[in-house]
Amino acid sequence: SRTPVTVTVTGAAGQIAYALLFRIAAGDMLGPDQPVRLRLLEIPQAVGAAEGTAMELDDGAFPLLAGIDITDDAAVAFDGTNIALLVGARPRGPGMERGDLLEANGGIFGPQGAAIQAGAADDVRVLVVGNPANTNALIAQRNAPDVPAGRFTAMTRLDHNRALSRLSAHIETPVSDLARVTIWGNHSATQYPDLTHALANGTPVINRVDRSWIEQEFIPGVARRGAAIIEARGASSAASAASAAIDHVRDWVQGTPPNDWTSVALPSDGSYGVPEGLVSSFPVTSSGGEWRIVPDLEIDAFSRERIDASVAELAEERAAVEQLGLI
Ligand code: NDP
Repeated sequence: SRTPVTVTVTGAAGQIAYALLFRIAAGDMLGPDQPVRLRLLEIPQAVGAAEGTAMELDDGAFPLLAGIDITDDAAVAFDGTNIALLVGARPRGPGMERGDLLEANGGIFGPQGAAIQAGAADDVRVLVVGNPANTNALIAQRNAPDVPAGRFTAMTRLDHNRALSRLSAHIETPVSDLARVTIWGNHSATQYPDLTHALANGTPVINRVDRSWIEQEFIPGVARRGAAIIEARGASSAASAASAAIDHVRDWVQGTPPNDWTSVALPSDGSYGVPEGLVSSFPVTSSGGEWRIVPDLEIDAFSRERIDASVAELAEERAAVEQLGLI
């Protein structure tokens, strides 16, 4: 049988991990023939709760689950890891300024980046879910300068999936018939969900939807979906975030379908005027285990303005973490 792939999940006692770990163990991320070994990282106070999650994973009797290790030591968690899902992050507390939040997360993602560089497998792939995800990914990446920068990504797939779902409902077309939706920029309220190039059954959707629907309902609806879920559910979106993380890694490893693309935040190569190195969301395809930014898309004036606004926020976050000495 195949050698197990080692998958590290941080924040393993949290809500997203609670949904995510079962999907990984079931083979939804790496396929039905690929055994996995799980490494769960938690802060010391939450190791006991992570043990509880691991007991439930044991009770799933998953044929693909080759073992579970639980630790509060990043060096142990990332030793030999192939896939690192950085879910645990410091939440914004009452009265916390953005600088405090970035600093607290720098204290988490800096050492995790260093531990990845020191011990992870040569093929390591990193997905940051914990917020502020783009800048947390930047911090981890800059603390792992010997790892190819493109191995560090942040998740905008949930925003992408939300955009597909909103569009599907509005034009009454199944998600499976939609393609080429894009999320640009930061995973934050400034993100730009872009339908300019979107297709339904191979034909452009842009002429079938009103500008006012795009600007007043679609864009804010995607960006504010997380808040709407908290209001309805009394808890933040965890299962859909986990599902998006599964989609992200699956597409990274197994490739994107022909004639479609997805959205991933990754270190910019300067494409579309996004300053080099900023971890910003782009339309991307995947093949051979690598993301490639979709080239040469026409960007209209409205899109330009929205992309620039979100990228400006990312540039400010980068300047703030530079000033804090985190990168
Ligand atoms: P969740 O599992 O619900 O969320 C974890 C992170 O994912 C948060 O930063 C959250 O951001 C972010 N996130 C990204 N996208 C979404 C989305 N669409 N919906 C909801 N969240 C999203 O948090 P819990 O508090 O349940 O669990 C976090 C765990 O992480 C705790 O057990 C804690 O102990 C642990 N932790 C572990 C660390 C480590 O392993 N070294 C370090 C820090 C914490 P947002 O806050 O903006 O919602």
